Amino acid sequence: MPADVTCDVLPETVLTVEQAQERILETIQAITETEQLELSQANGRLLAETIQAGFDVPPHRNSAMDGYAFAHESLASTATLQQIGISWAGRPYLGSVSLGECVRIMTGACLPEGTDTVEMQENTQQQADQITLHTRPQCGEHVRYPGDDFKQGEIILETGRKLTAADLGLIASLGIPAVKVIRKPRIAFLSTGDELQTLGTPLAWGQIYDSNRYTLRALLQNLPVELIDLGIIPDQPHAVEQAFIQAQQQADLLITSGGVSVGEADFVTRSLQKLGEINFWKMAMKPGKPLAQGRLGNCLFFGLPGNPVSVMATFLLFVRPAILKLAGINVVQPRLHPALTLTPLKKVPGRKDFQRGIYTETAEGYQVRSTGKQESHLLRSMSQANCFIVLERDSGDVGAGSQVNILLFESLS
Ligand code: AMP
Ligand code: MG
Repeated sequence: MPADVTCDVLPETVLTVEQAQERILETIQAITETEQLELSQANGRLLAETIQAGFDVPPHRNSAMDGYAFAHESLASTATLQQIGISWAGRPYLGSVSLGECVRIMTGACLPEGTDTVEMQENTQQQADQITLHTRPQCGEHVRYPGDDFKQGEIILETGRKLTAADLGLIASLGIPAVKVIRKPRIAFLSTGDELQTLGTPLAWGQIYDSNRYTLRALLQNLPVELIDLGIIPDQPHAVEQAFIQAQQQADLLITSGGVSVGEADFVTRSLQKLGEINFWKMAMKPGKPLAQGRLGNCLFFGLPGNPVSVMATFLLFVRPAILKLAGINVVQPRLHPALTLTPLKKVPGRKDFQRGIYTETAEGYQVRSTGKQESHLLRSMSQANCFIVLERDSGDVGAGSQVNILLFESLS
């Protein structure tokens, strides 16, 4: 527990966005537990073992072309060979081929004993079983050798690698049906608020539908995680604490929305303090000033504000990098791009603003305009936007035609 936390006093330090991001990542260790997965389920997962070739791939000497296989030595005395059989892919010719003879061979079919060269069909002429070669191929032409791709004993994939389509094909070519991977982080999420109603049920006076859980679920679905939806929790300390205990038992990380401010019905921060530890809960950021970050035992905790825009902004800026680190994925700070603002932007100094903007790319660079009103309950602004306009803490109002920085949503997904 940080020194500035006592049992009933919340830490008052207001962190900058960058300090908060750093303080979160400092506390996170990547998951190291593993699970065994069928290859068909392993796309994009982090490999937790090395893959070594148990045999040469390809395993047999085979043809790269549809054509004819023969001993190159035959061409010293003739350009016409006698066809004595066919070697199909998967059904090799089992006999041996003598000088002056050839077999018809398909791509991927094994080269029969006695042959070392393949001439492609297009360069030959057939008359009954007599095959005449129009050109004189090099010895070994169009032959693929065992171990061409990789040899027995070679390490072909290292631990920690994020498995790609090609990697999965490589593993399959070795006949390996399952691999050991790092397990996915388990992320629990819930909404708090007595005003929240489930979709499909009519709204009573004073109620609103719980939209945050749908936004959060979708944001989480962009990440390699397992989801635990803990539903809507009423504004009662006991209910909040019960949900926290459940999350601590089941999840690596819990995300809540609502109840982190200083209202009488805001139990999230206090319950976190009671059952776990608070890292910080105030940031100089707009939207999203209160964000209760800490842990419940081994379960990381993110108490996001209730307003829907704040939920999205704080998720993208703080929770997403935390989940990536937990999942063992390198966290790269997304790049800001300079842009010319076409609309004036209202800004009060003191907090770093992440205003909603719509950017376009022109020959002169990025241009951006505001989505309009910037209050954090206006989720439509987020739906219309394709970037944040990032205004530094000390900045005041910004005039149209000024240079600003933008953070593209596509760099956050
Ligand atoms: P709170 O942080 O609990 O004070 O909530 C701030 C604002 O966000 C209030 O107007 C709440 O009604 C609203 N809000 C809280 N949770 C949700 C939710 N799950 N879906 C939509 N709005 C919410
Ligand atoms: Mg609330």
